[in-house]
Amino acid sequence: MQYTIPHYYNKFHCVAGACSDTCCAGWFIMIDDRSRRRYRTQKGEFGERLRRSIDWKNNSFKQYNRRCAFLNKDNLCDMYVEAGPEMLCKTCRDYPRHTEEYEGAREISLSLSCEEAARLILGTREKVRFLTKEDDREESYEYFDFLLYTKLMDSRDVLFSFLQNRSISCSLRMAMALGLTHDIQRRIRKDRLYKVDELLKRYAGEGAEKAIGAKLADRRITGPARFEKMLSWFGIFQKLEVLNADWPRYIGTLKKLLFDEGAAVYEDNRISFYRYLIEDEERKKQWELWSEQLLVYFVFTYYCGAVYDGQPYAKMKLAVVSTLLIQEMAQAVFKMREGRLDFSEFVHLSHRFSREVEHSDQNLNALDRIFCTDSRFGLDSILSLL
Ligand code: SF4
Repeated sequence: MQYTIPHYYNKFHCVAGACSDTCCAGWFIMIDDRSRRRYRTQKGEFGERLRRSIDWKNNSFKQYNRRCAFLNKDNLCDMYVEAGPEMLCKTCRDYPRHTEEYEGAREISLSLSCEEAARLILGTREKVRFLTKEDDREESYEYFDFLLYTKLMDSRDVLFSFLQNRSISCSLRMAMALGLTHDIQRRIRKDRLYKVDELLKRYAGEGAEKAIGAKLADRRITGPARFEKMLSWFGIFQKLEVLNADWPRYIGTLKKLLFDEGAAVYEDNRISFYRYLIEDEERKKQWELWSEQLLVYFVFTYYCGAVYDGQPYAKMKLAVVSTLLIQEMAQAVFKMREGRLDFSEFVHLSHRFSREVEHSDQNLNALDRIFCTDSRFGLDSILSLL
């Protein structure tokens, strides 16, 4: 078995009681079958408490004031304190580690939804590297499309090289990544997977950057057209399952700040925001860096999952659209803070987005469907907003 992690992975430390937005509040913690069986038969007073604190029908811990029944007033887990880490269910043991499974391979990332992990991901200045190690464990799936998986792995390496190319703007990096996956998708549809290698070579060639740069300049929109399009993109949040009870209020406030005063005010704020970024070289660099780390994070986590549904283009759209929506949310915070945005605010809003969007299969599936069918997220439409 091959295991892959991003190079910053082992630097993560949970800050437990000092956490600004603990993972033990706000959402339901689902209990795996093995832990459930153990909890049912636990003896003594602690066993009694366990059984009282579980919603057996929903397979989750009960909540009081939206906090896990085991989360004490110091924001520490009573189960951990009283019975040790081995008593934790799989969700609590693993989080914020996230594992994607492929035949003979595991890819483990840290989830952006943990604010401490988000700080690590977005605060990484160097290009993310991926470390692998292997053990003797073997497995074989009943059905696994190894040819597609190989093409996805190869194309993901090319995507990383685009997304980490710091000699060009992040907008152009995103456009190249979208263009490549759009063309890969076409080859998958036409059953011409064997042509992917040739495509990768073409995109890695000198002319690609120039051609896509010209396309991008041609499509880009500003003013009322951009306002309308971005407003309609924000509509996708209404199609998603709400995981945290205060999310509608949070995203509603940002949406109001951005759009309620109309297209001219939206555009003024956008221009002020980009002026604020470019007037300071370090700030501008940092903004590009945050975007790069978000894109690499989303692509590492989700792109190869296309081996199960044959939709790599939708996975790339997930990375780009999520990054653009987070950037818009940052513009709203910039307005709220009367013309400034710092690292901790960017970390906070990125983790809020992730907490809401990434931790529901229902939401990820809904986004997949939207990106495959909704013309608001067609290639030209996304390019126009880059
Ligand atoms: S959100 Fe992250 S840092 Fe906070 S308690 Fe959970 S794992 Fe620890």
